[in-house]
Amino acid sequence: MPSFTDPFALHDPQLLRRQPFVNGQWLAGDAPPLTVNNPATGTQLGEAQTLSATSAVAAIDAAQAALPEWKAMTAQERAKRLERWHNLILEHADDLARIMTLEQGKPLAEARGEVVYGASFAKWFAEEGRRVYGEIIPPPQRGRRLLVFREPIGVCAAITPWNFPSAMIVRKTAPALAAGCTIVLKPAESTPFSALALAELAQRAGIPGGVFNVVLGNPSDIGKAFAAHPAVRKLSFTGSTRTGRILLAQAAEQIQKVTLELGGNAPFIVFEDADFDAAVEGAITAKFRNAGQVCVAVNRILVHENLFARFTERFAARAAALKVGNGLDPETDIGPLINATALARIEGLIADAKASGAKIHAGGQPHKLGGLFFEPTVITQIKSQARIWREELFGPVVTLLPFRDEAEALRLANDTEYGLASYFYSRDLGRMFRVAEGLQFGMVGVNAPAVSGDCAPFGGIKASGFGREGSRHGIEDYLEYKTVWVGV
Ligand code: ADP
Repeated sequence: MPSFTDPFALHDPQLLRRQPFVNGQWLAGDAPPLTVNNPATGTQLGEAQTLSATSAVAAIDAAQAALPEWKAMTAQERAKRLERWHNLILEHADDLARIMTLEQGKPLAEARGEVVYGASFAKWFAEEGRRVYGEIIPPPQRGRRLLVFREPIGVCAAITPWNFPSAMIVRKTAPALAAGCTIVLKPAESTPFSALALAELAQRAGIPGGVFNVVLGNPSDIGKAFAAHPAVRKLSFTGSTRTGRILLAQAAEQIQKVTLELGGNAPFIVFEDADFDAAVEGAITAKFRNAGQVCVAVNRILVHENLFARFTERFAARAAALKVGNGLDPETDIGPLINATALARIEGLIADAKASGAKIHAGGQPHKLGGLFFEPTVITQIKSQARIWREELFGPVVTLLPFRDEAEALRLANDTEYGLASYFYSRDLGRMFRVAEGLQFGMVGVNAPAVSGDCAPFGGIKASGFGREGSRHGIEDYLEYKTVWVGV
């Protein structure tokens, strides 16, 4: 039984692993350990062992050694193990959610939602793995037959962020494994326990040693080890555009295939013909989930000028009424930010906006709870050069701007280097098509505040990266084509 001092108090204490998982073994670290904090309380949750770059290379070697046997399995055999992983994740969803809330801060219900959402990719790709069809092409000459095989790309590397510490891992690992690849994952330093719990469950699901490895350590060193190893044929990364640029450049070394899910600067357009109440609620949802620390979170709300004053007032009142607090409290809507750097960044963005004449309608400062809590903040009268307009916010802060007509709304919405998610509310059928086509983003929510699901391609364009996760396309990134010409 967990002792009363154990903050985790898990039903299954074995889920709390503190060591890297390589080749089916929990390894002792050979580099300085990571300290993991609870962002809601500032207290230390525990330490996780880490690996040196040399040991990270050994993990890649292990994934390489495990590849032939995993690849030789039938898709059904791999699917069976992935389905077991999916079932185990769901069975332990409460514990996994608790681990996540403790190390990441999001409200427990959101954490549970993420665990279930993440698990859905294990099931989806178990099924997709069985539909990796090749092709037979009518040959251009007599006496020839022409076939296309689909083959696993090989050893994959994945680097994941702290904002979705569980779902991003399953969303990358499941398609890799279903395709017949093996993988080495480096999760974010703030949230290793969620990653290691998934490895524990993968082992219980019968996924063989070396097929799914989790390394922890210095991110830059491990990123370089991934880039330098000739066995690594694919890197999948979710994180900042800044880090994505580094990893993309490094991937040139071994010509690795890359998928990048990077930053966003999502617009949310409210047209004059929108369902007003639905638009307010949609904007609240699309903005404040995970304290706004979401790559598809709304950054800029564009409202038709005739609705602007009414919308701003209602939205600011709704935002101000959201309850900020510890994610373990079931009443909490908004948890803490991840760390002090994130909080200082948000303060800097708001100070910069204020200096150029912005008006604050709600929040604007650290929450009276102190620590890493920040007030839900609503800002108007910002300049298009302001950092708060240009940069990804990653916090419970949003700006509102009026527009005159559809063309101006589209121009403002597209005025960003990013191109991940976008949203708009309208009841005009023609406008729905025109605006959905005009938005330069990988995903568009039309009268819908959420844009992800196992069955739908997720990803961006421009500085938001490339490649798609989820859907039948999500497995493509882990497969190669092989063209076979046969003389008969
Ligand atoms: P954030 O600033 O929001 O933490 P990052 O892009 O820095 O976003 O982090 C996302 C993931 O990328 C984390 O797992 C982090 O450890 C990793 N990371 C950061 N810098 C590097 C790097 N130079 N090489 C490899 N991985 C990195």
